[in-house]
Order: sequence, then C-alpha cells, then structure tokens
Amino acid sequence: MRMINCFLAAAVCLGSAASAGASYTPDFDNGVDVRLAIQAAIESAASAGGLLPAVPAPQRTVWVSMEKSDVGALDGALFKRAPVAQNKRVAIYEFEPADLDSLADGMYRAFRRDPGYFAHDTLEAALEDLKAPPAPPSRAYTIDQGPRVAQLLALVKEEPIVAAISRLSSFKNRYYTSATGVDASKWLQQEWARFAANRPDISVAPFKHAAFAQESVILTMRGTTEPEKVIVIGGHLDCVAGYGDNPAPGADDNASGVAVTHEIIRTLVEGGFRPAKTIKFIAFAAEEVGLRGSGDVAAAFNKGNVAVEGMLNLDMANYKGSALDIYFVSDNTSAAQNAFLGRLLDTYTEYKWGSFKCGYGCSDHASWTKNGYAASLPFESLFNEHNPFIHKATDLLLQTGGRAEHAFKFARLGVAYAVELAK
Ligand SMILES: [Zn+2]
Repeated sequence: MRMINCFLAAAVCLGSAASAGASYTPDFDNGVDVRLAIQAAIESAASAGGLLPAVPAPQRTVWVSMEKSDVGALDGALFKRAPVAQNKRVAIYEFEPADLDSLADGMYRAFRRDPGYFAHDTLEAALEDLKAPPAPPSRAYTIDQGPRVAQLLALVKEEPIVAAISRLSSFKNRYYTSATGVDASKWLQQEWARFAANRPDISVAPFKHAAFAQESVILTMRGTTEPEKVIVIGGHLDCVAGYGDNPAPGADDNASGVAVTHEIIRTLVEGGFRPAKTIKFIAFAAEEVGLRGSGDVAAAFNKGNVAVEGMLNLDMANYKGSALDIYFVSDNTSAAQNAFLGRLLDTYTEYKWGSFKCGYGCSDHASWTKNGYAASLPFESLFNEHNPFIHKATDLLLQTGGRAEHAFKFARLGVAYAVELAK
C-alpha cells in the first residue's frame, strides 16, 4: 500500500511536469527510471475496481499520566497492561482514545475529580509528567488601580452570563469529538469575533488540535506597551455526561466558566479598557478527557517561549454549594498568585473566600502549572460540596433558578485580575 501511494504521488508530479512541457529526464530515485513501475501500480489499482484499497488507520494511542495511588480505585480492566514508565508518584499508561471516557467516568465516581489525569498524543510528551514542573519566576503583585477597577466593576452584569450559559448549554453536548462539540466551538468563535469590531487590537482565532476536531478558541487583546507579556484567562468549553455523544448540557461544568470569561471580555470592551500587557482569553477544548486542549495550548506557549505572567482558570462558577463565596485550589497552583487573588477580593469586593486541594490534574490550571506558569483556579464551593448535577443530563441552568448570581462574582474577580495584572 505504502509503495503504491508513493508511486502515485510520483506519478502526479511526473504528470504535471510533462503537461508543463518541461523536458523530462528520469532523474529521481538515484537515476533509475521508475515510470514502468508507476504505470504498473496505477493499472493494478485500476483493475481492483478503480479505487485504491483504504489505507488502514494508524494505530491510535494516547499516553496517560496519573497518580499511582488512584489506580486501585478504578476499573481494573483498564489497567491490565503495566505502566510504560513511572516514578514514585506518577505512572504512564498506554490507552486507546475510547478508554478515556471510562477513565474520566471512573475518576469522577471515585474522587469527583474532573478529570484527574493528563492525556497526551505522544509518549515523549507524557514522559515530561515524570519531571518536577519548573517553578514560575517570583514576582511582585501590586494593587493600585482602584479608580479603574471600580469603574469597570460597575459594568459587570449577570444577564450576559445567563445568556451565554443558556446558549452554550443548548447544544446537545459539547463533547470533544461530537459534531455539536465542534459546532459549539465555532459558535463561540463567531460570538467572540464580535468583540473585535472597532478594536484592531482584538483578534479571535481557533487553536487547532492534531488529535481531535474540537478547536480551542483564543481571543487576544494586544497589550499597548508590553505586548510580549501575556495574561491568560479562560476555562474549558467541552463537556461530557458519562460516555461520548450523550446529551450533556454542561451548564455549570463548564458553560459557567466560559460565560464568566465572556463577561470579563464584554466588560473590558464596554469600558474601553486597553491593557499594557497582552491578555489572551481562551476556551479550551477537550478538558474532560485528560486536559488535552489546555495541554496542547500551554505546551505550545512554552515551546514558543511566551512570557505568560499569570493564568486564571475558570471551571465551575455558578453553584454556591458552600458557605463562602469563592474557594481557591491550593495544590498544583501558584501560592503567590492565589494570595494576590484573595487580596483582590478583599480590596474590591465583599466576597468571602477559602481554599482546598483538588488533587492531580483536576482542571486546566494544571497544564499551565506543569509548563512553569503561575496558575490559579477560583472554584464555586469546597470540593466535596460542588454541583451534584455535573456530568449528567441534568447539569442545567434551571438548577440555579435560571440565574448566574454566583458566576457574577467570578466575573468581577476576573475583571480586577485583568486590570491589576495586565497594567
Ligand atoms: Zn470542568
């Protein structure tokens, strides 16, 4: 098969050279004239019905890194094969892509974690997870933009958050390989492109992933004086309920985080805010199956030496399950940036906050932490009190009375963060 295709590709080149009237000399394949072999290959394919046999799909494999201590609580059938590599804490397994749903489902049932592991296209990328992540460079966090923040906070509204959650949760699902998962990403690209009207400093582009069709979406607000320095704000756009193409509205997990991101952008644009540093607002594809979207994006930023000064992950923001308003995840995040976010809440809002640990690979901030960037996740509740409807067909806006009062707080935090960090 491979040979036939190779010959046919050569035949196309040969044909175009001939039709251009160039003087043809058989100078390929070390001077051996392979025209007869090409002709034989074409005739053989034609005699088999005029069609070439289908090229078998390459063996598709994903490489998953996870905490070894989690394995015992998961479906043993998934772990018949030994890990391909490991250190004291983390092991790497080879899976088929179809196994990722079972793994995510098992993780969610056992630990309520979402997803609790990283999935990679290559073993080489997975092996990186056995290394300790580089620490982000230490930096000073200052809060001195009071009048500007106050002016912008007054513009944050609940209604656009409700509208965005409604629209995103109206797709049958936003699963990373489903048609509606692709549609939801395309819809968001169009929606965010509207913010670029009359703002030449704003652009919207998809980030395409090699292994799946759903695209991540990036809105860039280019910095005025230090555009090479970048702040990232965003959350995952995909969702799942159990397996594959099931109906999954994902209103809280995570239309709410995308809607909060949307409202931060809308507020900054309405207020005419132009950051000194560049802000990239990102809706990540394929979080639920191993942080694959954010994994690709963060690795690409790292590879391109992009100076990301801070990353704010918004994942589940609209269900007030606990006494306080906002809880910061304290593991696999930046303690310094978490403290800064707490001070922003103390300075600019009346919201009360706490913290908790959510474990290995629990959401997209982990991809950025792993790449040496300061990342944080402000979350809707304590971990064991979060929205009980997520990953089900009942993760609907109705569960919060059609309101986005809780998510509104996260939009205010995000606006303060954007202004004070991108100054
Ligand atoms: Zn989520």
